This record gives sequence, structure tokens and C-alpha cells, in this order.
Amino acid sequence: MAIFTVIGLGSFGQTIALELTRLGHDVIGIDTNQRNIEDVADRVTHAVIADATDEKVLEELNVQKSEAAIVAIGEDIEASILCVLNLKNLGIHQVWVKAKTKSHHTILAHLGVEKIIHPEEDMGIRIAQTLSYPMVSRYMALANDHFIVKVIIHEKMKGVNLHGLMGKYTEEIRIILVQRDKHIFYTISEDFTLEPNDILIVEGRQHDLQKLSSSFQ
Ligand code: ATP
Repeated sequence: MAIFTVIGLGSFGQTIALELTRLGHDVIGIDTNQRNIEDVADRVTHAVIADATDEKVLEELNVQKSEAAIVAIGEDIEASILCVLNLKNLGIHQVWVKAKTKSHHTILAHLGVEKIIHPEEDMGIRIAQTLSYPMVSRYMALANDHFIVKVIIHEKMKGVNLHGLMGKYTEEIRIILVQRDKHIFYTISEDFTLEPNDILIVEGRQHDLQKLSSSFQ
């Protein structure tokens, strides 16, 4: 269990604060807006009406004990930047910040922010990719255009031999595991056939995964 600070409890900040709480962490939530604080007051460890551009306030709230801090202020770029400087001054190593504009992003990058988040863009890309490859329910981007993707097998793939299906791609795509109910197969035998709702975790380049995805449709 760790302590996290979330500054700015609009819909994005609230979602993060509540999910971190659900995962069992202590969350310090800060917002200047009383209504936003009231929304989460009985659901996070400390919900405080305060101006996070004031470093003293953050210190009094023991924000420096946080494992990581998330600045989820969207519109007020100046406030967002001041918060970052305060958090860095307090020695917090992991500072994640929501950015709304390109110039905001550039300044945050110069300040050495560990992670700059563009939620609307990221969500847009995610939705477009899911629409484009409906069988891919999740994916993680690795370096050099490599991805790990989670594929859920649907009814019409029942009985298909997995080795046969992957045959053309053995050089390019690796099956990391197959999950069937509570059982996980790390080694896939030659005669392994798919069942509906099997979950495949595979790794490869986007281009090759796209080619493979046509076999799943
Ligand atoms: P959403 O997450 O709802 O999309 P948004 O991107 O529109 O939010 P804002 O509404 O600009 O972002 O900011 C998010 C929250 O940050 C607001 O609830 C606002 O009150 C809070 N906030 C703004 N400035 C400060 C500050 N100096 N200290 C603490 N909280 C702040």
C-alpha cells in the first residue's frame, strides 16, 4: 500500500483517485473547488480544499510522503506548472501530469515530468484501434512498434488449431500464454485447439499483428 496525491479532482482526477483507493492505496485528493471535494470526501483517505500552487500547503498536507503525484488540472496551465514545480521541490520522484495543449506538453517535458498524459487523445486512439480490431480487447505498446495484445476468441473460432493459425507468423509473433477459464497454458502443444472465450496474449510488431488479426475475424 502506498500514498498517492491527486491534484485536481475533475472527472479525470476523480477517476484516478477513486481507482487508487479501490486498489487499497492512501490517496490525498486536493482541489480548490468545494463541490469536487465533497464528491470524493468519504471515498478517499484525505480530500482537502486547497490551492496546490502553494508549496507550503502541500507540505502541511504531507504530500512529500507520496510515492507519486498526479496533476490533473486541465485548463489552468500556469497552476499545473506551479504544482509540478512544488512537487519537484518537495522531492517527489514520480510526477504525472495531464496536458491539454502542445505548449503545455513542451514545458512539462522541459521540467522533467516523468509522464505526460493526454487522456482525450489516448482514449481516442484506443477507441479507434478497438473499433478497427474488435477482437483486441487490450494492448500495451512496447518499443520499436512492438505491442503485446490481448485477444478474446469468439464462437466461430471454436476448434481452430492454434499452431495452424499461427503457422505463417511463427517468426514474427510470439504467443506468450493462453488463458482458458482459470487455467493458464504457457506451452502450447501442436494439437491445441481454441475454445470460445479463450484469451490469447501475443507479442509482435503492429504490422504483423494486423495481418494476424484478419484471421480472427
Ligand atoms: P476534467 O478532468 O473534468 O476533464 P479539466 O481537464 O476540464 O477537468 P479543469 O476543470 O481545468 O480540468 O481542472 C480540474 C480540477 O482542477 C478542477 O476541479 C479545478 O477546481 C482543479 N484545480 C484548478 N486549479 C487548482 C489548484 N491551483 N489547486 C487545486 N486544484 C485546482
